[in-house]
Amino acid sequence: MEPLIGPASDLSFGAVLAPDQAVAVVGHPVACSARTNQQWKNRHFLCHIGSCSWVVLVLRFRGGPRQMPGFQFSAMQDEVLSQGPRVVVTGATGLLGRAVCKEFQNHGWTVSGTGLRRARPRFLRCDLTDEDAVRRLLQETKPDVLVHCAAERRPDVMERDADAAVSLNVHASSTVSRETAACGALLIYISTDYVFDGRNPPYGEDDCPNPLNLYGRSKLEGEREALRHCPGAVILRIPVLFGEVESVTESAVTSLWQQVQEATEERRVLDHCLQRFPTDARDVAAVCRKLAERARQQDPSIRGIFHFSGKEQMTKYEMAVAMAQAFNLPSNHLVPLTEQSAGSAPRPINSQLNCSRLEQLNLSVEPRAFSIAISECLWPFTADKRWRQTVFH
Ligand code: NAP
Repeated sequence: MEPLIGPASDLSFGAVLAPDQAVAVVGHPVACSARTNQQWKNRHFLCHIGSCSWVVLVLRFRGGPRQMPGFQFSAMQDEVLSQGPRVVVTGATGLLGRAVCKEFQNHGWTVSGTGLRRARPRFLRCDLTDEDAVRRLLQETKPDVLVHCAAERRPDVMERDADAAVSLNVHASSTVSRETAACGALLIYISTDYVFDGRNPPYGEDDCPNPLNLYGRSKLEGEREALRHCPGAVILRIPVLFGEVESVTESAVTSLWQQVQEATEERRVLDHCLQRFPTDARDVAAVCRKLAERARQQDPSIRGIFHFSGKEQMTKYEMAVAMAQAFNLPSNHLVPLTEQSAGSAPRPINSQLNCSRLEQLNLSVEPRAFSIAISECLWPFTADKRWRQTVFH
């Protein structure tokens, strides 16, 4: 859909609307004032202004004013009202959620992304631990599909503040699942390979989970809540992610870039014990979108647990060396550590996922090669001026 934008300077924009409709931009003062009118039903979509995306509401007033003051009308009514199927993406401000929003948007879906601290101005702000807020969100957005990405995914943070993390990973997942069932939408619940103990890989979808840490336990409980409320839900388990990060510290994989770049005399010791399968969030997003589209075609096999994973087995040390090679940087300061580091939450040694159930669906999502994908994601953070440009993912 073309953006419905007038002069970008004051963010006014407009469209030809039905007699009882108006439009507003969330986060813009006009939209905020519109929110005080309880008598509208809305649908919404994202529009892009410069490098920012704004949630645009199409408001329908019951006997209210035809248009918001100050709007200029320029687009066709069809443009406002022709919308694709609707998806809500929780955790849309996070690494995976951003990729999922982009993937669905690029394929004609009407996307409502939600976040919490980073939500404004691009996404809807909704604290998923607030049951009323979740109910309102789904009543207003009426999605066909909900992709539940929001979670606390850092095992060590979880162990430090268990109550808050369980509240998000378990209780909020339960609420989201219940409300998704109430509006008849497909739920795609994002889970993790950390539901397995890593002692007997690879793990099939039906293998018995045995999480080693609170993060894994909470995600497993979240899976159970999802299936309890939405028996037709899709559970998509994935391993460690990287992708189009906002800062390199956003993912456990791209964080290694800091050690790679510090090519000094000082040695950098990196784990060479835990086997990982780094996976590009963009590939996971494509899987989510294709699963959603298959489900909309009434394919009965789109339900239950699926695994998706990158294909290359690597330790953190090996990932760092691969990054150095991709950018022609020295790697002799990187030192492999073959013992598990003490002090952090226990992690599975090798929780490789067997992805055969997903592969049988022939969704045509081939995981990207690590060296190519990681170069694409890291180039905005290279010190080399030839690579450095302003980038908006
Ligand atoms: P992330 O980047 O840490 O993002 C977490 C998201 O949750 C953010 O959008 C955050 O919003 C949102 N959030 C936090 N508290 C919230 C609350 N109370 N209400 C509403 N939203 C809240 O996570 P990610 O890496 O994209 O992970 C996405 C999913 O993949 C998770 O389910 C995770 O378990 C799973 N997964 C991730 C990895 C990985 O390596 N990252 C590996 C396997 C599985 P704000 O930032 O706006 O507050």
